[in-house]
Amino acid sequence: MNISTRKFDTLVIGAGGAGLRASLQLSLADATVAVISKVFPTRSHTVAAQGGMNAALGNVSSDHWHWHMYDTVKGSDYLGDQDAIEYMCRAAPETIIELEHYGVPFSRLENGSIYQRPFGGQSQNFGGDQAARTCAAADRTGHAMLHSLYQQNIKAKTHFFDEFFAIDFIKNEKGLILGAIAVDIETNEKLIIEAKTVLIATGGAGQLFRTNTNASINTGDGMAMALRADIPLQDMEFFQFHPTGIAGKGMLITEGVRGEGGYLVNCEGERFMERYAPHAKDLASRDVVSRAIAIEIREGRGCGPNKDYVMLKLDHLGSEVIKKRLPGIRDTSMTFMGVDPIEEAIPVFPTAHYTMGGIPTNRYGQVVVPVGTGSEEVIPGLYAAGECACASVHGANRLGGNSLLDIVVFGRAAGNHIIDYLKENPHHKALPEDCADSILKRLERWEKPTDSSEKSYTIPELKAELQQVMEENCGVFRTEEVLEKGVIAVKEIKAKLKKAKMSDYSNVFNTARIEALELENLVEIGLATVISALARKESRGAHSRMDYEERDDINWMKHSLYFMENNALTFKPVRSKPMTVESFPPKVRVY
Ligand SMILES: Cc1cc2nc3c(=O)[nH]c(=O)nc-3n(C[C@H](O)[C@H](O)[C@H](O)COP(=O)(O)OP(=O)(O)OC[C@H]3O[C@@H](n4cnc5c(N)ncnc54)[C@H](O)[C@@H]3O)c2cc1C
Repeated sequence: MNISTRKFDTLVIGAGGAGLRASLQLSLADATVAVISKVFPTRSHTVAAQGGMNAALGNVSSDHWHWHMYDTVKGSDYLGDQDAIEYMCRAAPETIIELEHYGVPFSRLENGSIYQRPFGGQSQNFGGDQAARTCAAADRTGHAMLHSLYQQNIKAKTHFFDEFFAIDFIKNEKGLILGAIAVDIETNEKLIIEAKTVLIATGGAGQLFRTNTNASINTGDGMAMALRADIPLQDMEFFQFHPTGIAGKGMLITEGVRGEGGYLVNCEGERFMERYAPHAKDLASRDVVSRAIAIEIREGRGCGPNKDYVMLKLDHLGSEVIKKRLPGIRDTSMTFMGVDPIEEAIPVFPTAHYTMGGIPTNRYGQVVVPVGTGSEEVIPGLYAAGECACASVHGANRLGGNSLLDIVVFGRAAGNHIIDYLKENPHHKALPEDCADSILKRLERWEKPTDSSEKSYTIPELKAELQQVMEENCGVFRTEEVLEKGVIAVKEIKAKLKKAKMSDYSNVFNTARIEALELENLVEIGLATVISALARKESRGAHSRMDYEERDDINWMKHSLYFMENNALTFKPVRSKPMTVESFPPKVRVY
């Protein structure tokens, strides 16, 4: 094994909000921390988050963390784990104040306190009037958070490996994760980063779908690394479609637009959400609004020449509100559609947005795997946080504003747990001599040509095919027949990928090799998603089966766990017991 090795207390893979919040906690506690990121840290996808982060501060409407917890459990369609949800909602107010002290420039009310806007699924007093719980820095909240966290990490002397791509974990014979192999994207040199603890914070997999709100870097790498290390993925059937992506293009128009008073209309100019959610209307939960839009279009009330989108109206808000509270949205709309929302409505359509499932963890961020029948155990020293993880606080449907909260709350919780773990486990464990061999072997085919005379495929064409298949076979509405076709099609793409080649090995950019590795990862995540969706024979949250229209709490109030080996699925119970309060039992979910 002739690869350079660096040693740290902790390896954090991913420099988004989750990774940077964890690394900051660790660096401040004098742990040695390596953060690797395939893009420069402040280009991580958290930078794109627009509308804000939830916390029951009560600055605009009366509020309480317990009401926030109720809304989150209901939003999750009762699949969220209530201990983790209680932990997150209780921690939210202090987390916001902490971010404010790190320098996040939140928008302000006249009295100087933090501005909060209403978002979907928020209520006062357990389902009463609309709450305003989302703390915002205009419509660039993620940008403000990520830059502040990065600056704090620089001050705390976190060690960054910028533009390094993590390929796979290094394991020992007991299955413990002892670090990872990464490649320097610029030079193609490989590096082993050895660590006593590893945190996976690699974000979501929105690139699975053709039309999505995500950056091209969101390819589910950490989740696929976990699968290859025999760790299952939880609840992958639940993929969120955001109601308001720009039609045909996908860029996000934040829910904050509807929070500020914008609303949706069909081709008849009807404010149709009044029919689907009489109480919350346009601020119903995302799964409800996305389905309503899809039904309007299916029934012929869509707008435009092909009747394939609806309109988001905000011109009535006035130019002052739009320029002050939604400047980024106005820019996006003018740049990508040539539409100035001060004057005209924006064409929108539900767009793939957020990976609710992921690497199973408890509320300390420890990765938890099943053992034997019915029990589970943590993998010592291995943690996950952020969109790649499943704590599970979002269950079957995430509420807007709860992801930025999730990433900082569980990033910090993981950091704190790692600090304690390091006190009890102060030494590195020995790396097996051959630990890198199989990983390097997997890379070889992207580094030099093979002799195969079989038909080969290119990476971009296979990626486009995967995205098309997932969009057509695992979208807002699903059926047995369509999902079965999806499983077969993704398996075929996996087989074709084994025959794929670089167009010119002698003169290929390293980024092309990275795209091949990303596609290998995406295909595994696609299989996990479509196989889990085929298995779940009910409709819950974002998983909407036209052949099983009702939620089925008797048979399906359980989390799915997908394993890469044999594409196997098992299930485990929902943790419906909170930490200190009474459980919220499942009810019919109306808004
Ligand atoms: C357009 C948009 C707007 C949103 N707005 C909101 C909002 O207003 N409120 C809200 O709560 N949520 C919002 N979300 C969701 C939220 O922004 C994300 O869920 C969250 O930021 C994810 O953070 P993260 O730290 O988990 O991952 P990310 O920020 O995606 O970071 C992932 C990190 O992992 C690194 N990485 C990945 N793979 C590898 C690899 N193989 N090797 C090395 N590094 C790797 C990346 O370089 C990156 O640093 C929005 C999402 C989108 C797409």
